[in-house]
Amino acid sequence: MRFEVLTIFPDLLTTPLQEGILKRAIQADQIQVNLHNIRDWASDKHAMTDDRPFGGGEGMVMKPEPLAACLHNVQAEKKGTVVLLSPRGAVYNQETAERLADLEKIVLVCGRYEGVDERFRRLYVDEEISIGDYILTGGELAAMVVIDSVTRLLPGVLGCSDSARKDTFSCGLLKHGQYTRPREFSGLTVPEVLLNGDHARIEEYRFLDSVRETLQRRPELLHKVSFTRAEKKQLQRAGLFHQVQQAVVGIRQSQHE
Ligand code: SAM
Repeated sequence: MRFEVLTIFPDLLTTPLQEGILKRAIQADQIQVNLHNIRDWASDKHAMTDDRPFGGGEGMVMKPEPLAACLHNVQAEKKGTVVLLSPRGAVYNQETAERLADLEKIVLVCGRYEGVDERFRRLYVDEEISIGDYILTGGELAAMVVIDSVTRLLPGVLGCSDSARKDTFSCGLLKHGQYTRPREFSGLTVPEVLLNGDHARIEEYRFLDSVRETLQRRPELLHKVSFTRAEKKQLQRAGLFHQVQQAVVGIRQSQHE
């Protein structure tokens, strides 16, 4: 997987790429991240990458020519999917991360100021991604979110092969509570079931804990989850089946209103 990042502040991305799993993935050649300074593609003597908006108004707009020149250079050898980080984009989620993880090359375009010239967006951008309903000062942190979340889904990147599959969102449920040593901390003990080595009971406990967490915090996630027959039985035994059904019906009704 190759990430090409177009930015006027490449240094904002260097440190996160030099730590932890991302650093290891780069060293192992599982990902390649190339940072491109848009300023290097500005043609005037002041290396201007922004200008005042036509029609007046606040702030500056990123000029299309340096962006386009930088992009052409990046796309010359092999074309990648061009993603513009933008608060106007589709809100990013695990499903999108999984879809992006199947691509070979992603070009991430980071806006600054009031955003990029609309013509650049129309001519070159394949999709727009927002990392949430709030405004950042630039797209670099959003690009980092995409790089981080996609990389950990790539085969071989995480030490434990199925830990990405069992994450919150990947299976549709929130993650169960997790415990490590010591067995007792400030008067709170680890649930007994986790200490007895009975893997079937531990799996069931974790599954039910995930369902309870999801019911309590994010019930709207439940309507996308398809439970196996064995899981349905476990929900019935724990007295949760009816609650889950009610939550799903409630969500479907609210979607139709
Ligand atoms: N004036 C723009 C608006 O109201 O939509 C906001 C521009 S913002 C200050 C500058 C840049 O930050 C954007 O072009 C985009 O690249 C990035 N950005 C800001 N918020 C973002 C978000 N929630 N998700 C992704 N990128 C974001």
